[in-house]
Amino acid sequence: MPELSLILFGPPGAGKGTQADRLRIDFRLPFISTGDMLRNNVKDNTELGLEARKFMDAGDLVPDELILAMVGERLKEPDSEDGFILDGFPRTYEQALALDQLLSERGRRITAAILVDVPDEAVVRRLSGRRVCVKAGHNYHVDFDPPKHDAVCDQDGSRLIQRDDDKPDVVRNRLMVYHSQTEPLISYYDEQGVMRRIDGTRSPDEVHDHIRAVIATLRLEDDV
Ligand code: ADP
Ligand code: ADP
Repeated sequence: MPELSLILFGPPGAGKGTQADRLRIDFRLPFISTGDMLRNNVKDNTELGLEARKFMDAGDLVPDELILAMVGERLKEPDSEDGFILDGFPRTYEQALALDQLLSERGRRITAAILVDVPDEAVVRRLSGRRVCVKAGHNYHVDFDPPKHDAVCDQDGSRLIQRDDDKPDVVRNRLMVYHSQTEPLISYYDEQGVMRRIDGTRSPDEVHDHIRAVIATLRLEDDV
């Protein structure tokens, strides 16, 4: 079966990670989250982590050359040969152009960019209530998806914390950065005919069903 190369696109807190967790099981695709990769580098005190941290803490984008080197390496790994789900990448024109270049060198292209669309007010509510586990970054929400036991991860029993960049002033900057630097990519992928919009304000199950329906239609159209 031909590959399925997907981009999950949308503002911070739209629910991309939540959906990616489900889609990776549905389609058995590797899930490549630049945010997760960067946070692992920060945790491991790598050179990249030390460099990236100051941008992440402020809610600014990490410079393209650092991101492109990291993603370029990741996409060389054999598991992504049959497709992938990208989350949080690309976020700038330079990143989008570099991704197209990288794929076309291998005779490949993006199957779809799936925009999980959520207005700013909902983003602020979702991010301010988001809690993640210290061990593996499993996601919860204090109101919308609470853990069974207060501040403890259902999946691995580790402690739940609020990410530093989910604090209100950093969230405001992340939204500004999204609107100015990342949102323009919607028309870039529209022009390529691969942009698909999903109403991200629905429940996680409804959003998931909608994304699966979109992918099923793509497979019928393109025989992918
Ligand atoms: P979100 O919850 O906004 O989707 P992520 O986990 O994707 O957050 O990203 C966290 C931070 O990591 C971003 O605010 C940014 O500093 C950095 N980052 C992640 N992906 C990229 C990227 N593709 N380009 C530049 N910076 C990135
Ligand atoms: P992103 O990866 O886009 O930054 P997440 O998947 O981490 O977003 O979701 C952000 C927060 O919103 C998390 O606390 C998550 O539990 C919650 N969330 C995700 N999807 C929904 C939804 N459809 N409705 C309500 N809350 C949601």
